Amino acid sequence: MTKLELLLEEIVTANRILAREGVVDSFGHVSARHPDNPQRFLLSRARAPDCIEIGDIMEFSLDGTAVNAGGRAPYLERFIHGGIYEVRPDVHSVVHNHSPSVIPFGVTGGKLKPLLHMCANIGHEVPIWDSHDKFGDTALLVDSVAMGRDLARTLGAGRTTLMRGHGATILGPTVRQAVFISVYLELNAKLQMQAMAMGDIKFLTAGEVDKIMARTGPYSINRAWENWC
Ligand code: MN
Repeated sequence: MTKLELLLEEIVTANRILAREGVVDSFGHVSARHPDNPQRFLLSRARAPDCIEIGDIMEFSLDGTAVNAGGRAPYLERFIHGGIYEVRPDVHSVVHNHSPSVIPFGVTGGKLKPLLHMCANIGHEVPIWDSHDKFGDTALLVDSVAMGRDLARTLGAGRTTLMRGHGATILGPTVRQAVFISVYLELNAKLQMQAMAMGDIKFLTAGEVDKIMARTGPYSINRAWENWC
């Protein structure tokens, strides 16, 4: 198989995993940067993640233009992906979801921070992007290049951001790592709400987060991926 064929398979698997792990439902999507052309990315046509097949994956330029649509309708929010790939050469995969446990943090401004070692890769503190700050009243969908770029600015050099009243966006150097972080972002949010109900939380220290991030590699990520498959 070529690099491209393997990656298309990986994107399909990623969609199915995130659906089964409850991170995406009928909505949400996963993309990957094209392995042969960094100015392109691969993303399914508009379809529920658990239904996606290889023939659904389309190719886009970074401004969200489909280069091989062939009658397939793209996701409205494809601009999330292009906006990030434009400014983050280190990123090769982006996940966007409406993962339920992250929503309360986005709307209260409560700081979502890692409290479980498996969740350190969400970053030291997850920022919140509020589309209203710059774009006012919208349908909350990231439906333009300008909105995608603004979201990418909130991400900065990080790996995750919440989106107020909407969901989250997660990125990684590989599809597997983006999926890994997405699953554990949802888990951290759920555990943090439970812990908040019990009292004060002792979060991971900054040093602990750095050490865990530095050692997270194929050993953990491939083990989880195999299990989820
Ligand atoms: Mn969305």
